[in-house]
Order: sequence, then structure tokens, then C-alpha cells
Amino acid sequence: MVIKVLVELSNKNIDKTFDYLVPQKFEQQIQIGIRVVVPFGRQTLEGFVLGISNEKEFDYELKEMIDIVDQDIILNPELLELGKYIQEKTLSTLISAYQTMLPKALKAKKGVVVPKKMEHYLRLKEKIEIENYKGKQQEILKIILEKQKILKKEANDISASSVKTLLKKGILIEQEEEVYRLKHDSEIVKKYPLTPLQQKAVDTILEKKDTNTTFLIHGVTGSGKTEVYMELIETLLQEGKESIVLVPEISLTEQIVSRFQKRFTDSIAILHSRLSDGEKYDEYRRIARGEVKIVIGARSAIFAPLKNIGMIIIDEEHTDSYKQDSCNPKYHALDIAKWRAKYHSCPVVLGSATPTLESYARAKKHVYQLIELKERVNHKELPKIEIVDMNQEGKRRIGSFSKSLISEIKTTLERKEQVILLLNRRGYSSFVSCKNCGYTEKCPNCDISLTYHKTSNMLRCHYCGYATNLKTECPSCGEEAMTTLGIGTQKIEEELSKLFPSAKTIRMDYDTTSRKGSHERIIQSFQKGEYDILLGTQMIAKGLDFPNVTLVGVIQADTSLNIPDFRSSETTFQLLCQVAGRSGRGEKSGKVIIQTFNPDHYAIRYAKTHDYEGFFQQEMMIRHKLGYSPYYYLTVVRILSSDYNEAKNTSSKVGEYLKKNLKEVILLGPSVASVFRINNIYRFQIVLKYKNEEIIRPILKELIEHYQSNSKIKIDIDFDCLHI
Ligand code: ADP
Ligand code: ZN
Repeated sequence: MVIKVLVELSNKNIDKTFDYLVPQKFEQQIQIGIRVVVPFGRQTLEGFVLGISNEKEFDYELKEMIDIVDQDIILNPELLELGKYIQEKTLSTLISAYQTMLPKALKAKKGVVVPKKMEHYLRLKEKIEIENYKGKQQEILKIILEKQKILKKEANDISASSVKTLLKKGILIEQEEEVYRLKHDSEIVKKYPLTPLQQKAVDTILEKKDTNTTFLIHGVTGSGKTEVYMELIETLLQEGKESIVLVPEISLTEQIVSRFQKRFTDSIAILHSRLSDGEKYDEYRRIARGEVKIVIGARSAIFAPLKNIGMIIIDEEHTDSYKQDSCNPKYHALDIAKWRAKYHSCPVVLGSATPTLESYARAKKHVYQLIELKERVNHKELPKIEIVDMNQEGKRRIGSFSKSLISEIKTTLERKEQVILLLNRRGYSSFVSCKNCGYTEKCPNCDISLTYHKTSNMLRCHYCGYATNLKTECPSCGEEAMTTLGIGTQKIEEELSKLFPSAKTIRMDYDTTSRKGSHERIIQSFQKGEYDILLGTQMIAKGLDFPNVTLVGVIQADTSLNIPDFRSSETTFQLLCQVAGRSGRGEKSGKVIIQTFNPDHYAIRYAKTHDYEGFFQQEMMIRHKLGYSPYYYLTVVRILSSDYNEAKNTSSKVGEYLKKNLKEVILLGPSVASVFRINNIYRFQIVLKYKNEEIIRPILKELIEHYQSNSKIKIDIDFDCLHI
């Protein structure tokens, strides 16, 4: 028997399978899609078995494979196909596609194996008459009769001597079994009878539940989208069908996830980015073995190895993080969802209060089926939004707070209601610069400002991890004038404690959420009413549902408007609508105050009236005029090298080549990438604007192949990129 094995070759951007002989003792266990250990040069590597045959293709000595890693198939036939699709779609390697689909413990690697957790269980050897046993023995046997088995540890706690006796008499047998590390609580929650609008949405989707239709639920914040998802899933569950639910990030959507968990208890697996590798492995195995019917998680949950998918739901579909853009393959979860939905011939359901322009435009052209939920559940009103022009505040403002915001916070607190304050900032921490000469501390390896981390009092590079102590003396002018720039949440917190000394504030930002479980703790304590004000960065804008919050304040709406990105208006509009949606979700009606220096900007004006349609029309006009998505697709070709001249010269060559071969495509560049140097690698880029992807794909494929074996140059392509 000969197998074809796909391995990951470090530093090489190459896909190749290698042939190995299978020793007789392994022949029974070899299957396509499992991992094996093979010799490779002087090392041993793990690889995926992609082919099995009974004869050698060429007439040369083959090496023997060394060992089998998996008893069960890791890459089932669907995932094998899906990998090929990703390879084709993103022009990345097949091995990188497979690796990205799997949890760490199941990737092909060098050696390390995540141990299964084994436990000893006791079971009955044969049928017994329980009356024949007394006391502790009977107690243990009763549990086994009821649950089929008992952990030996637990039985020993009842009576170790009874266990010994029962084993000796051959009444019980002992077995070692794999156990899962996570405990799944069950706490049943009541479900709401759906409102007529929700019911209609559910019916519309279920009508086409056996077709490969993509739905877009455009529902205002609080319109009950989550209830709709759960109803859909429950209906499918009754038919034995499985579902995947993607959420932006589990820890940021803790409340939604716990609603799912409470309703579906044992049938659900939660793929949390903060699970340990072992826990992730266990969850993955539960899914692969069919012990789970619903999978909820962030981007990578789209690869969950369910075999009978009935629906794929993507909540907050406008979220950036659904696209993997930091490493290859640069895939979008939505494309994967569509591919898998086609494979299983089932619907994809997208939901958002502020869909991307791309999705809404598709819905308008009937590529997607649009479902509108224009009202909050039970006719609750959307919160009133007031825009405060900070240019006009003058002496009325105190620190970062306008007069209006101060007085609204005051009356809200007096009514014993809660406040959410958003500090609109892109990063989660601030950077440091010299007050005297303006010098900013940059990473020595990457062309990017270091960010300041208060807890460790260090400056760190978010690209390469470089870290250094904060110095107060400026390395450039020598003055003792290095300070943290920009308003941080800590500064706002200090201002709050002066303005409202008796109010209790809890902060949610990069610093306060770095420990495992801290998001959850903050959310829970705010929910219980232990705090009056929740102050945070972007991470508080999504999904939170606190009935007692009746005021939302945005400290500065402008920061995200100023980012040099063609999506900055859209991002700002989305953020403002999302955070406004946190107000007035309970019985009491809510209010929102947005402080801004750009009160006339259309993103802010349309957010004020909750007018998605108006924003959409205006933004589409601008995108049309400037030739951006959704009118043109954008793809970035990056030319990377540790040698500056090499990178520069190659980028002009690549530019020439693309210009010659892509006549209908608009080319921008070559220019330096927005971060010019990362980890001592220089980065040039060429942006392609085009209408038809089929034209550029073969040309780019050729480009990649041309440089594949060039050790000095790396070509990196981000198809249909979100940001340039
Ligand atoms: P969205 O996801 O659209 O923001 P949610 O599903 O979170 O909306 O619903 C908003 C609030 O309304 C939640 O507190 C939810 O429990 C409640 N809710 C949803 N559907 C119903 C219903 N049919 N009856 C009563 N309350 C509901
Ligand atoms: Zn760096």
C-alpha cells in the first residue's frame, strides 16, 4: 500500500504530496483524511493522507511511514473539498487551508500531541438484581443502573471497599475512557412566544429550508433577531439537522451565547477563543462524533465538522473579523458559509442592524432574500439620539464631557438607571509621544508606533511583539516629556469620579479584559446592578442587552471618521447605531448622546435618525463616484522582502507585469503599504480595482507561481480586501 501525504514545509509556499509505503501493521487503519507521521529528510513530520493506492507511481525506493496519529478521520470528504475551494479562492496553499480549518491539536505538526484526558469508569459486567445488594454497594450499583457507568473516583468516594469487592466478584468491570474537559451546565430558560413579525421572518426562512438561499435579516437593534435564530435552530433540531452560528467574538457576545447555551444545553458546542487547546480539541471531537447539533463560535467555527448542516447563521454580518486578513489563507467566513450551504443545500442567514453595503446591495438586487424587522420587539421605541456639537461647547464643557451629557448622566443615575459610555477608539491602548518635540516611539522592527500598556508599564509592538520599558526622557530631544497621548478610558474614568463621586464605574477595555473570563465578570456584575456606569471602547458596542440601561453616551464620535480608509464612514455609522442600540432595551425608554466635532457629517446625521436606508443611498453614491466596493472589487497584491531594494525593484516589475496583462483593471501603485515594515520585512503594494474577478485570478496565480521558489521575495495576495 502506498499513500500520498501532504505535509507543511516550513518557509516554503509550496504544496506537494509525497509518497510513502505503508507497513503491513498499519494497512487496516489507513484512511484518507487521517494524519500520519512520516520521515522527511532528517526530521519527522505529520501530514494528511490524501490518497491511497496499491502500486507505486514511479520506480524508485519509497520510504516507509512511521506511525498513525488518528484513529478517526480528521478531514472528512467535505472538508477535503472545502480546502481545495479555499486554495483556489485565495490562491494560498492547500496545506495552509487545511491547517486553518483545524484546531491546533489537530493540525499537522512536528511531534507534539495533545494528550487525551482519560478517566477510569466502572460498568456492570452483566445484568444484576439490585435487591441482592445492600448499603454502599447498592448505592453504587443504583447509580450505574441509572447512568450506565460511574467514574471510579466517584464510586470510591462512596465506598472504596465496596468498589474493590464488586470488582473482585466480577460484578463490575473497569474501563479507561476519554473524557471531555468542559462541563456543560444545564439551566432551562423560558422562551418567548414570537411576535408576529418574528414569526413571519421564521416562516419565510423555513419555507425555503431545503434550498440554498441566502437571507439577510435587516433588523433594528432589539428587534429580536436572536430569538428568530433560536427558533429556526430549534425547528431544524427537531428534524435532526445541525446548525452553525457565527458571532463576532465570543467574549464580546457573552450574553447572546449564554442565551443559546441555556436553551440548547447539551446539544451545543461553544468554540471560544479562550478555551485551552485541550478544551478546543475536546469540543471539536464532540462535534466530529455527532454528539453536538449546534456549534456557536467566532470566524473559525465555520469549519466545524458537522455532517448534516441545516442552516448557517452569521450574526452581526458586517463584522470585520469574519475575514481572516492577518495570515494565509485570507478567507472570508461568508464565502465558506456559502460554499458549505451549497454542499448541504441549506440556507445561509445573515443578520445585522447595519448590514455591509455589499450585502444590502445584494439584497436589493434579489441575490439575497431580504427580511426587514423595522421595529423593536413589542413596539418599544428606538432611543432618541441627541447630537452635541463639541465646537460650540466652549466653557460649558468639563473635561471630555458636554453640559448635556453631564446633566443626562446625572438624572439617569438619580432614577437608579444605568449608563453606558463609549470611547470611540480604534486600538485598545494608547501610544506615547514627546510633548516637547513630537517624537513618537516606534518599533525598531516594524514601521509602527508602539502602544502603551499601563498594567505592565511597557510599550509594545502589536505586529511583532517587541516590548520595551516606558522611558519618560525623550530619546530624540532629551526632555523629560514623554506622555501617553489621546484620551484613554482611564482618563475618562478619573473625570467621571470627579463629576459623579458617588457613582460606581466599571471599565471594559484592553487593560481590564486581558485575563481569561474578565469580560464575562464585568458584564455579569454590571448586569446585576453592582455598577452604575459601564465605560469602554468598541468592545461594549455589540450585542449587550441590559434592560436597565437608559442612557448611552459617545464621548467622541470622530475618531473612527478620521481613519484613512474608504470604509470609515460606514464603520462610524455602524458603530454609532450599534452602541445606540444598547439604550432603552427594557421597559423604560432610552436616550443617546453623541458628542462630535463633525455634527454635519452624513454618517452622524443618519445615525441620529436611525436611518440606515438614507445612509446606504448616500454612501453608495460616494462609492460609485470614487470607484469602491460594492461597485468595484479591491484586491491587494503585496510584495515582501527583507531586502529593501529587492522589494522595491520587484514591486515595479510586478506592476509592469500586471499593467500589461490586466488592461481592464485599474491599478493603484506600486506604493508602500500602510505599515511599511513589519518584523524587518519591507512591504510594497499594488491595489487592483476591477469588476470581474475571473480576469485577475489566472494572472495572479501565475505571478505567485513565478515567485514561489524565490527565497528573497514573497507575494502575498488579499482578495476582496476589506481595508487597504
Ligand atoms: P436583537 O438581536 O435584534 O438585538 P434580541 O433578540 O436580543 O434582539 O431581543 C431584544 C430583547 O427583546 C431581548 O431582551 C429579548 O429577550 C427580548 N425579546 C426578543 N423576542 C421577544 C419576544 N418575542 N417577546 C418578548 N421579548 C422578546
Ligand atoms: Zn514590531
